[in-house]
Amino acid sequence: MSNDNLTSQLHTALSALKDPETGRTLGNTGQIESLEVQDGQVRCTIQLSSHSWPIHDEFQEHVQQTLRAATAELDDVQVSITSLDRPPVPIGQIGLQAKSVIAVGSGKGGVGKSTLATSLALGLSKAGAKVGLMDADVYGPSIPHLLGISGRPEVVNGKIKPIYFDQIPVMSMGFLVEEDQAVIWRGPMLHGSISQFLRDTYWGPLDYLVIDMPPGTGDVALTLSQMIPLTGAVVVCTPQQVALLDAIKAMAMFRKTKIPILGMVENMSGFVCPDTQKHYDIFGKGGARDKAEELGVPFLGAVPINIQLRQESDHGNLKGGLEDPVCDAAMNKIVRSLVRQINDQAAQTPHGAALPVL
Ligand code: ADP
Repeated sequence: MSNDNLTSQLHTALSALKDPETGRTLGNTGQIESLEVQDGQVRCTIQLSSHSWPIHDEFQEHVQQTLRAATAELDDVQVSITSLDRPPVPIGQIGLQAKSVIAVGSGKGGVGKSTLATSLALGLSKAGAKVGLMDADVYGPSIPHLLGISGRPEVVNGKIKPIYFDQIPVMSMGFLVEEDQAVIWRGPMLHGSISQFLRDTYWGPLDYLVIDMPPGTGDVALTLSQMIPLTGAVVVCTPQQVALLDAIKAMAMFRKTKIPILGMVENMSGFVCPDTQKHYDIFGKGGARDKAEELGVPFLGAVPINIQLRQESDHGNLKGGLEDPVCDAAMNKIVRSLVRQINDQAAQTPHGAALPVL
């Protein structure tokens, strides 16, 4: 086949590939930056937005395979992925600049919801996405403690300046009240602070806004869903049967507020003794996976009980806790599953349309 014919054949194959973020074909999005074919050698460069960056290696592999499957005439295929600047379109009446808004919830407290919400934000950010973290767990705002950050957010030109952890803007009631102080929330006050956090914080343009929800009740979910279209909820639970029942209630609550379920995460899933490497199922294992399957909800992954994670988090260094290789691998998997799940949902609905409620 002539070089020109081969180039055109490969270009057609690439054009039919879908951009993971928008679900639109690359032929229509202008993301094929270059394609060079010479003596059976192919070099191509495809652009990808930071929203999809956490799975850029999978996408690169997919492009490779597509090119190889298009013709048997290739000796060498080299695919580069470069970053595409695609800012978010403001969403909701408040014009929040975030492409995906993820609520992290649980049926009850103490299951590791805040740990997971914070770890997801750190994981997405580490993987190359622009992330914000909002602590809407106003009854027990623990994110400042987990990250070891403090300070009073300033108000500048009517906007609240969040406190930054690395590149991540963070907003929490924990910055506004003393750690040991109790806040009694009345309905309108709760509604007021949550909307203020969302609307008046200077988040900047984000790929993902991760929101740590209060456990159980639906008030905050309702307030949020009235203000912005949430991409969906991640429900965290532990493997015991009683905990799973609470998780089911949490999912029912999200459904009622028309927030789609992105998936379940099983936390404190088994324990590997660091001395003997022996595995113990302290709270059991696999319960959430089975329940997710039974309910037709995606299962995003599991995090084992990990001493380093608990110790470092207690000392305000959750990031350090995540350096434990077991936690790192587990979180990585969950971040990828989540991004894939968001992409799948986006691909099933016209771009920008409300996502289906599971
Ligand atoms: P929640 O937000 O559901 O109330 P937290 O995230 O505050 O729960 O976690 C409760 C406690 O459990 C914290 O001390 C935290 O460090 C610990 N924890 C969470 N996940 C794990 C885990 N996988 N292994 C060990 N400890 C964990």
